[in-house]
Amino acid sequence: MTNNEIVEIAKATSEVYTRLTRGLEHITGKNGWMVLFEMELASYVKAKTPDDLLEMEGRVCKDNLAEDEQGKYFKCACGKNHIHRLTFMEYDHPDFEYIILGAECIKTTDDFMAKISGIENFKEKVKKWYKYIKDEERKLTHNACIACGKYDIQKKYKYKKEWRNLWCRDCCIYDRVKCVCCGDYRDFKKDWKGNAMRYCPPCYFSSTPSAVP
Ligand SMILES: [Zn+2]
Ligand SMILES: [Zn+2]
Ligand SMILES: [Zn+2]
Repeated sequence: MTNNEIVEIAKATSEVYTRLTRGLEHITGKNGWMVLFEMELASYVKAKTPDDLLEMEGRVCKDNLAEDEQGKYFKCACGKNHIHRLTFMEYDHPDFEYIILGAECIKTTDDFMAKISGIENFKEKVKKWYKYIKDEERKLTHNACIACGKYDIQKKYKYKKEWRNLWCRDCCIYDRVKCVCCGDYRDFKKDWKGNAMRYCPPCYFSSTPSAVP
Protein backbone atom coordinates (compact mmCIF):
# COMPACT_ATOMS: atom_id res chain seq x y z
CA MET A 1 0.00 0.00 0.00
CA THR A 2 1.44 3.37 -0.97
CA ASN A 3 1.08 6.52 1.12
CA ASN A 4 -1.21 8.06 -1.47
CA GLU A 5 -3.52 5.09 -1.29
CA ILE A 6 -3.60 5.30 2.48
CA VAL A 7 -4.55 8.98 2.28
CA GLU A 8 -7.28 8.24 -0.31
CA ILE A 9 -8.93 5.58 1.77
CA ALA A 10 -8.62 7.46 5.06
CA LYS A 11 -10.23 10.64 3.80
CA ALA A 12 -13.04 8.94 1.92
CA THR A 13 -16.37 8.86 3.69
CA SER A 14 -19.81 7.36 3.37
CA GLU A 15 -22.34 7.03 6.15
CA VAL A 16 -22.33 3.26 6.46
CA TYR A 17 -18.66 2.87 5.87
CA THR A 18 -17.86 5.55 8.45
CA ARG A 19 -20.11 3.85 10.99
CA LEU A 20 -18.27 0.59 10.42
CA THR A 21 -14.79 2.10 10.65
CA ARG A 22 -15.77 3.98 13.83
CA GLY A 23 -17.11 0.76 15.32
CA LEU A 24 -13.90 -1.05 14.52
CA GLU A 25 -11.86 1.81 15.90
CA HIS A 26 -13.81 1.58 19.14
CA ILE A 27 -13.22 -2.19 19.35
CA THR A 28 -9.55 -2.28 18.46
CA GLY A 29 -8.24 1.20 19.18
CA LYS A 30 -6.84 1.34 15.64
CA ASN A 31 -7.99 3.14 12.53
CA GLY A 32 -11.04 1.22 11.39
CA TRP A 33 -10.08 0.94 7.76
CA MET A 34 -6.59 -0.24 8.73
CA VAL A 35 -8.18 -2.96 10.83
CA LEU A 36 -10.26 -4.08 7.85
CA PHE A 37 -7.01 -4.57 6.04
CA GLU A 38 -5.74 -6.80 8.85
CA MET A 39 -8.85 -8.98 9.00
CA GLU A 40 -9.33 -12.35 7.32
CA LEU A 41 -12.65 -13.94 6.55
CA ALA A 42 -12.96 -17.05 8.70
CA SER A 43 -16.48 -18.39 8.23
CA TYR A 44 -20.07 -17.62 7.51
CA VAL A 45 -22.66 -19.20 9.78
CA LYS A 46 -26.39 -19.27 10.03
CA ALA A 47 -26.86 -18.72 13.76
CA LYS A 48 -29.34 -16.29 15.21
CA THR A 49 -28.42 -15.98 18.88
CA PRO A 50 -25.25 -16.47 20.90
CA ASP A 51 -26.91 -19.52 22.45
CA ASP A 52 -26.95 -21.21 19.04
CA LEU A 53 -23.23 -20.82 19.04
CA LEU A 54 -22.24 -21.16 22.67
CA GLU A 55 -18.74 -22.39 22.01
CA MET A 56 -18.00 -19.25 19.97
CA GLU A 57 -19.13 -16.83 22.63
CA GLY A 58 -15.83 -16.45 24.45
CA ARG A 59 -13.93 -16.10 21.20
CA VAL A 60 -16.11 -13.38 19.71
CA CYS A 61 -15.46 -9.73 20.48
CA LYS A 62 -17.90 -8.76 23.28
CA ASP A 63 -18.94 -5.65 21.34
CA ASN A 64 -20.63 -8.06 18.93
CA LEU A 65 -22.94 -9.29 21.70
CA ALA A 66 -25.99 -7.43 22.90
CA GLU A 67 -29.13 -8.13 24.86
CA ASP A 68 -32.67 -6.79 24.78
CA GLU A 69 -36.10 -7.93 26.09
CA GLN A 70 -36.09 -10.76 23.55
CA GLY A 71 -32.74 -12.05 24.79
CA LYS A 72 -29.16 -12.12 23.60
CA TYR A 73 -28.28 -11.36 20.01
CA PHE A 74 -25.33 -10.64 17.76
CA LYS A 75 -24.68 -7.30 16.19
CA CYS A 76 -22.29 -6.07 13.53
CA ALA A 77 -19.08 -4.31 14.56
CA CYS A 78 -20.68 -1.10 13.25
CA GLY A 79 -23.16 -1.33 16.15
CA LYS A 80 -26.21 -2.17 14.02
CA ASN A 81 -28.33 -5.23 14.41
CA HIS A 82 -28.38 -5.89 10.67
CA ILE A 83 -26.97 -9.38 10.68
CA HIS A 84 -28.92 -12.08 8.89
CA ARG A 85 -26.06 -14.48 8.84
CA LEU A 86 -22.83 -14.13 10.77
CA THR A 87 -19.59 -13.32 9.03
CA PHE A 88 -16.72 -14.20 11.34
CA MET A 89 -13.57 -12.23 10.65
CA GLU A 90 -10.33 -13.42 12.19
CA TYR A 91 -8.41 -10.70 13.90
CA ASP A 92 -5.29 -10.91 16.03
CA HIS A 93 -6.27 -9.60 19.45
CA PRO A 94 -5.45 -10.76 23.00
CA ASP A 95 -9.09 -10.64 24.19
CA PHE A 96 -10.90 -12.28 21.31
CA GLU A 97 -10.38 -14.18 18.09
CA TYR A 98 -13.26 -13.04 15.91
CA ILE A 99 -15.01 -9.84 14.98
CA ILE A 100 -18.43 -10.24 13.41
CA LEU A 101 -19.35 -8.10 10.43
CA GLY A 102 -22.77 -7.96 8.81
CA ALA A 103 -22.91 -8.92 5.14
CA GLU A 104 -24.45 -5.46 4.60
CA CYS A 105 -21.33 -3.72 5.90
CA ILE A 106 -19.05 -5.87 3.76
CA LYS A 107 -21.18 -5.13 0.71
CA THR A 108 -21.02 -1.39 1.47
CA THR A 109 -17.26 -1.56 1.90
CA ASP A 110 -17.01 -3.33 -1.46
CA ASP A 111 -19.23 -0.72 -3.20
CA PHE A 112 -17.31 2.04 -1.57
CA MET A 113 -13.89 0.67 -2.49
CA ALA A 114 -14.92 0.57 -6.15
CA LYS A 115 -15.03 4.38 -6.12
CA ILE A 116 -11.49 4.79 -4.81
CA SER A 117 -8.48 4.55 -7.08
CA GLY A 118 -5.48 2.41 -6.21
CA ILE A 119 -5.42 0.00 -3.23
CA GLU A 120 -5.97 -2.90 -5.63
CA ASN A 121 -4.85 -5.56 -3.14
CA PHE A 122 -7.27 -4.37 -0.53
CA LYS A 123 -10.11 -4.11 -3.05
CA GLU A 124 -9.45 -7.66 -4.22
CA LYS A 125 -9.62 -8.88 -0.66
CA VAL A 126 -12.93 -7.17 0.09
CA LYS A 127 -14.34 -8.35 -3.25
CA LYS A 128 -13.43 -11.91 -2.31
CA TRP A 129 -15.24 -11.57 1.05
CA TYR A 130 -18.31 -10.25 -0.64
CA LYS A 131 -18.33 -12.93 -3.33
CA TYR A 132 -18.01 -15.59 -0.64
CA ILE A 133 -21.00 -14.15 1.20
CA LYS A 134 -23.08 -13.96 -1.97
CA ASP A 135 -22.23 -17.58 -2.81
CA GLU A 136 -23.17 -18.71 0.71
CA GLU A 137 -26.43 -16.76 0.56
CA ARG A 138 -27.31 -18.36 -2.75
CA LYS A 139 -26.97 -21.78 -1.13
CA LEU A 140 -29.75 -20.83 1.28
CA THR A 141 -32.25 -20.26 -1.51
CA HIS A 142 -30.92 -22.57 -4.24
CA ASN A 143 -30.02 -26.23 -4.55
CA ALA A 144 -27.02 -27.45 -6.51
CA CYS A 145 -27.53 -29.05 -9.91
CA ILE A 146 -26.76 -32.76 -9.46
CA ALA A 147 -24.66 -32.84 -12.64
CA CYS A 148 -22.56 -29.66 -12.56
CA GLY A 149 -22.93 -28.53 -8.93
CA LYS A 150 -24.00 -24.97 -9.80
CA TYR A 151 -26.43 -23.47 -7.27
CA ASP A 152 -29.03 -22.71 -9.87
CA ILE A 153 -32.18 -24.53 -8.78
CA GLN A 154 -34.61 -22.52 -6.72
CA LYS A 155 -35.59 -24.32 -3.54
CA LYS A 156 -39.03 -22.80 -3.24
CA TYR A 157 -40.03 -23.21 -6.86
CA LYS A 158 -41.70 -26.37 -8.22
CA TYR A 159 -40.47 -26.57 -11.80
CA LYS A 160 -43.07 -27.68 -14.37
CA LYS A 161 -40.56 -29.89 -16.13
CA GLU A 162 -39.77 -32.14 -13.24
CA TRP A 163 -36.15 -32.82 -14.21
CA ARG A 164 -35.46 -29.12 -13.70
CA ASN A 165 -35.91 -29.72 -9.95
CA LEU A 166 -32.60 -31.60 -10.07
CA TRP A 167 -30.74 -30.39 -13.16
CA CYS A 168 -29.93 -26.76 -13.98
CA ARG A 169 -30.97 -25.23 -17.28
CA ASP A 170 -27.51 -25.74 -18.75
CA CYS A 171 -27.57 -29.45 -18.03
CA CYS A 172 -30.85 -30.15 -19.86
CA ILE A 173 -31.56 -30.20 -23.60
CA TYR A 174 -35.34 -30.43 -23.92
CA ASP A 175 -36.13 -33.61 -21.94
CA ARG A 176 -32.58 -34.89 -22.10
CA VAL A 177 -30.47 -34.54 -18.98
CA LYS A 178 -26.78 -34.82 -18.26
CA CYS A 179 -25.49 -38.07 -16.77
CA VAL A 180 -23.94 -37.08 -13.43
CA CYS A 181 -21.01 -39.41 -14.11
CA CYS A 182 -19.85 -39.09 -17.74
CA GLY A 183 -21.72 -35.91 -18.71
CA ASP A 184 -23.49 -37.47 -21.73
CA TYR A 185 -27.09 -36.47 -22.28
CA ARG A 186 -29.78 -39.11 -21.89
CA ASP A 187 -33.58 -39.12 -21.85
CA PHE A 188 -35.02 -38.24 -18.48
CA LYS A 189 -36.28 -41.45 -16.89
CA LYS A 190 -37.37 -42.67 -13.49
CA ASP A 191 -36.56 -45.95 -11.81
CA TRP A 192 -39.19 -48.37 -10.47
CA LYS A 193 -39.29 -46.44 -7.17
CA GLY A 194 -40.15 -43.22 -9.00
CA ASN A 195 -36.74 -41.62 -8.42
CA ALA A 196 -35.03 -39.73 -11.22
CA MET A 197 -32.28 -41.77 -12.86
CA ARG A 198 -29.06 -39.84 -12.55
CA TYR A 199 -26.87 -42.02 -14.77
CA CYS A 200 -26.82 -42.96 -18.43
CA PRO A 201 -27.16 -46.73 -19.00
CA PRO A 202 -23.43 -47.35 -19.67
CA CYS A 203 -22.49 -45.58 -16.42
CA TYR A 204 -25.29 -47.27 -14.51
CA PHE A 205 -24.18 -50.73 -15.63
CA SER A 206 -20.48 -49.96 -15.51
CA SER A 207 -18.32 -52.33 -13.52
CA THR A 208 -17.19 -49.48 -11.24
CA PRO A 209 -19.59 -49.78 -8.29
CA SER A 210 -18.59 -46.37 -6.95
CA ALA A 211 -20.23 -44.76 -9.97
CA VAL A 212 -23.67 -45.75 -8.71
CA PRO A 213 -25.04 -44.50 -5.39
ZN1 LIG B 1 -22.69 -3.19 10.04
ZN1 LIG C 1 -25.95 -28.14 -14.14
ZN1 LIG D 1 -22.81 -41.60 -18.09
